[in-house]
Amino acid sequence: MAKKKVAKKAKKKVAKKKVAKKQTTRKKVAKKAAKKNVAKKKVAKKKVAKKKVAKKKVAKKKVAKKKVAKKKVAKKKVAKKKVAKKKVAAKDHLFDSVLELIRKTSAEIPEDVQKVILEALEREEKNTTAEYAMGIIKANIELAKRKSQPLCQDTGTILFFVNHPAGFHQNKFKKTVEKAVVKATELGYLRQNSVDSLTGKNDTMNIGPGHPDIHFHEHDKKTIEIRLMLKGGGCENVGAQYSLPHTELGAGRDLDGVRKVILDAVQKAQGKGCGPGVLGVTIGGDRGAGYVNSKEQLLRRLDDENSHPDLRELEKDIVATSNELGIGPMGFGGKTTLLGCKIGALNRLPASYFVSISYMCWAYRRLGVVLKNDNAISKWLY
Ligand code: SF4
Repeated sequence: MAKKKVAKKAKKKVAKKKVAKKQTTRKKVAKKAAKKNVAKKKVAKKKVAKKKVAKKKVAKKKVAKKKVAKKKVAKKKVAKKKVAKKKVAAKDHLFDSVLELIRKTSAEIPEDVQKVILEALEREEKNTTAEYAMGIIKANIELAKRKSQPLCQDTGTILFFVNHPAGFHQNKFKKTVEKAVVKATELGYLRQNSVDSLTGKNDTMNIGPGHPDIHFHEHDKKTIEIRLMLKGGGCENVGAQYSLPHTELGAGRDLDGVRKVILDAVQKAQGKGCGPGVLGVTIGGDRGAGYVNSKEQLLRRLDDENSHPDLRELEKDIVATSNELGIGPMGFGGKTTLLGCKIGALNRLPASYFVSISYMCWAYRRLGVVLKNDNAISKWLY
């Protein structure tokens, strides 16, 4: 019995050991499995990390490609701009612009002048010589414009007034303008009108000392403005300059004296300046500056208002009083002796007091243009 018990115990021990072994084995298996799982997870994580890195690399490459593409586009744009600039530099439109300015100025009266002429025609009494004369002037204006022909056979002194920015090349400009004047003369826009003052010889090109007469002024704008005036010889002949005081006329050194001498000039001109005319007047300056400025007064629109109240009143008074003198269009009598009067003032020396008067005939040809960067016409003035 005792042996059997011992044997049983031994069996139980063995059985327990087996169970213990199995448990140990299970634990080991479980540990291994857990290790494998951890390892797998690590591998999986590494793969994910690798994928992320790969994605980032792809994204970086894309960004880099885009940058390169952008740079290429930018380079192309710069290249295009360079080509465009070269094209602009290659084509300078100054000659064509000046030629067109001359053609149009010679053939077309400015709108502000035409308006005043039509008003004057309406004002004249019907079936009078004055009305007839104004009617001929109106017909002339329409015909010249329609046929693009000079408004008058005398295409006058060619006066350019050029406003330009700093750094402008006057000599280069002058040469191109002269070429345009020669071409305009060949095409018949201008009469062969310039003669050597000593020999009387006409070189038929309208070029020579003082011809064309170009006045340059630097202004603060970036654009170039060219104004052209074609001033007839007949009306230039009746221009006048007075030195005040003027004893004969009883004209002192004041605005009343100025008024007296201006009206005297109108009386003396009668119909000789191809009236009705427009006066450009300058008070003060020296003799030369006074005359130049009196012509610059004629660049003003007829419907503008003088900013100086006294001069504004004097301008109106001169026109109204002159039109009561009965001189009329071409001196034929009537109500229209003057179409306008523009007065400016320059400083003077205490010793001098000049009044300079430029008379413009009914064929009041003045136009102007603003130029673009390539010197093509961007806008017409007046
Ligand atoms: S003054 Fe004037 S209108 Fe008279 S001929 Fe000369 S340009 Fe012609």
